[in-house]
Amino acid sequence: MKSCHSCQTVIDEYILQKQLEPLRDLTVDEFNVCADCTTIVADACVECSGAVYVPRSESVTPDYCPACRSDLIDRTGHDPGWNCDRTST
Ligand SMILES: [Zn+2]
Ligand SMILES: [Zn+2]
Repeated sequence: MKSCHSCQTVIDEYILQKQLEPLRDLTVDEFNVCADCTTIVADACVECSGAVYVPRSESVTPDYCPACRSDLIDRTGHDPGWNCDRTST
């Protein structure tokens, strides 16, 4: 059993798995937080229109899901972060 890095409670993998279902390529094993500390936003990824995972420390919804983020790291060799650059000025 693993415990949550954020709130230290034991992670219920069944509940977490349910929570993670919209995310592609991400399993309970890659998570160190419990379902309570996980925020999933559906259809938010700018690349694949999939669900994104919002770390609790982040207040904004990421533009990339974890799978697309790692794809971009593979493709470009650098980490784009969670948000794509939007020059709005
Ligand atoms: Zn937690
Ligand atoms: Zn994506």
